[in-house]
Amino acid sequence: MFETRKDAIAAVAARPALKSGDAIPFDLETYASDVFGIDCMRERLPKGVFQKLYKTITEKSPLDPTIADDVANAMKRWAIEKGATHFTHWFQPLTGSTAEKHDSFVEPDSDGKAITVFSGKNLIVSEPDASSFPSGGLRATFEARGYTAWDPTSPAFIKHHPNGATLCIPTAFCSYTGEALDRKTPLLKSINVIKKSVSRLMRCFGEDGNAIVTVTLGAEQEYFLIDRQFYLARPDLVQAGRTLFGAAPPKHQQLDDHYFGTIQPRILSFMGDVEHALWRLGIPAKTRHNEAAPAQYELAPLFEDLNLACDHNMLVMDVLKQKAAEHGFVCLLHEKPFAGVNGSGKHVNWSVNYGDLNLLNPGSDPHQNAIFLTTLCAVIQAVDKHADLLRATTASAGNDHRLGAAEAPPAIISIFLGEQLTDVIEQIEKGNLKSSKHAGLMKIGVDTLPPLPRDATDRNRTSPFAFTGNKFEFRAPGASQACAGANVILNTIVAEAMDDISAQLEKAGRDNFNEKLQKVLQSVIKKHKRVIFNGDNYTEDWRKEAEKRGLPNLVSTPEALDAFLWEKNELLMEKYGVFTKQELRSRHDVFVEEYSRKIKIEGELSLNLARTLFLPAVSKQLGTLAESINHMKSVGLKSGLNTVISMAERIGKLADSIEACAVRLEKNLTSGKPDKILEEMHKMRVNVDALEKLVDDDLWPLPKYREMLFIL
Ligand code: ADP
Ligand code: MG
Repeated sequence: MFETRKDAIAAVAARPALKSGDAIPFDLETYASDVFGIDCMRERLPKGVFQKLYKTITEKSPLDPTIADDVANAMKRWAIEKGATHFTHWFQPLTGSTAEKHDSFVEPDSDGKAITVFSGKNLIVSEPDASSFPSGGLRATFEARGYTAWDPTSPAFIKHHPNGATLCIPTAFCSYTGEALDRKTPLLKSINVIKKSVSRLMRCFGEDGNAIVTVTLGAEQEYFLIDRQFYLARPDLVQAGRTLFGAAPPKHQQLDDHYFGTIQPRILSFMGDVEHALWRLGIPAKTRHNEAAPAQYELAPLFEDLNLACDHNMLVMDVLKQKAAEHGFVCLLHEKPFAGVNGSGKHVNWSVNYGDLNLLNPGSDPHQNAIFLTTLCAVIQAVDKHADLLRATTASAGNDHRLGAAEAPPAIISIFLGEQLTDVIEQIEKGNLKSSKHAGLMKIGVDTLPPLPRDATDRNRTSPFAFTGNKFEFRAPGASQACAGANVILNTIVAEAMDDISAQLEKAGRDNFNEKLQKVLQSVIKKHKRVIFNGDNYTEDWRKEAEKRGLPNLVSTPEALDAFLWEKNELLMEKYGVFTKQELRSRHDVFVEEYSRKIKIEGELSLNLARTLFLPAVSKQLGTLAESINHMKSVGLKSGLNTVISMAERIGKLADSIEACAVRLEKNLTSGKPDKILEEMHKMRVNVDALEKLVDDDLWPLPKYREMLFIL
């Protein structure tokens, strides 16, 4: 058997089985102990300083710069007690991961003795050279200056490594001229936008509009874990994060025996370590389970304030990778690491609150119900008007393999409401809201809606955007994507729809409010109900139906990203000050560029593997077969001869097809057209996967799916 593959299996087999033993108790005191949070601040900051900072954090009021030195000093002391020697401004450039450049606290004083230094200025702003981050033309490299600015609403935290620790300060990242170069800046802007719109809408309902508005996010994270030995023997995983070749094994997920199955001890021990690390970071990891595909798992935290939850999800991805390495695994966050089995998504659960009131909670009294239905209608209008933008936020080379692959929602964005809510919506449309399907009689008027049962919605796993009881769940984002992208758009488009509704309500005045509200909602539903779809999103019928309804179906990444350039979207983003036209364009360019670079890397890798691994394996195999054929002929052995000849022929033909693909792929790589590269890669893969099923198992150079997905 091929050396590395044999060695990989042997190494995994040699791992001693884990015995269940005494649990390591989790000390509740250590929850959030790696975070410079509110408690820590209260304890360590002068009272006046704490009060000012607390106001900034809870009310998101502007930061008073005069307190920076005091905060920095307290933070430094705390971090040093935790073993930190360095600090970093931690930010989210447009690369898909986080960035950090460390500076030590340690400096010599004038006598050459070491002291520790960390000033208010160090805390508030930094100027990393940062010229190599994607900016989509917003900065030329010679004017490299980029600035990171402290975001006090997301607490600083400690990252541990084997012999030390680093203080990480969440920051926003922008250019010298103030353009956003990251994911956090537009997110914070969009949160401010929706806050204003919610306050305005609530004033229409007779509220004072002064309660604190929060957007909440619960990000479910799917991932694969495979043994590191297999990973190291798969150059495609190492370089592209996904397998570019690999025949489906006879058994994969057909029996549904992995989903929610008993979690293996080795996996559980990994999960336990992940959770302990997350809890120390104050990240409320809550749910863990096996997912549908073999070797696939999910982690879901409790929902939190959106900005914090976005930062936390970036950390979740980091911790998953780090702990996987400690346990001899590799965590794959690619959207489709293995063809033929489910890919990994990130379900973005989103809601918005006014004070304690979740606006997406069907309430127990008529007033709350009216607010709920209005918010619901605002979301319907928003998603229908800007489905293209939402789709664009999920576009990536990896997610293209997942969306619409009969396991994940298609690229057509529609809303699932469930039977009962759809019924209510239909009745508002008709203007005679009388009864709810399951909840008995209702009198006319939104103010007489009966309590809607909280969990009246059924589940529809095929829908990209589903109402799930007290929140919407956007299921199209990919496992590796930052949450911020989708949420920036969601906040802004819902804000716009709310403003639209508010404007009509303000004009109508307070007399006969409920009747007028009904009329407004009725017209929203009439205009936008085409986006509601409760059926099976995987079917061809839905694709046709959606086309009839005029819903966009932007299948590939380049098509989907075009939405960033459309005038309607530029106008929207400029109106709300979330993105300038230039920023939108720059994002478009960054993502398109990233897409074509990734495809090119995959293309080159495919070519390389074909010529240096698969074709040489074929040549060895054909050599052996030819020898056998000669031998059989020389001794006059007739039976079996034709079988061996036809084996050689089948393998030889596939080899010829692979080489033909390689020649075309090579050409396409020079022209650089992603769709052409993908097409040839796909053809090549079909041939290689067929070959895998014919070539002597001992000669096959790469770990097979049945090994990577099942041996641990
Ligand atoms: P499922 O797998 O059925 O979708 P999970 O329990 O795995 O459900 O995940 C649901 C996610 O939604 C959790 O992260 C949960 O905290 C989050 N969530 C619940 N309520 C809200 C809310 N009001 N706003 C945002 N997210 C929420
Ligand atoms: Mg879910």
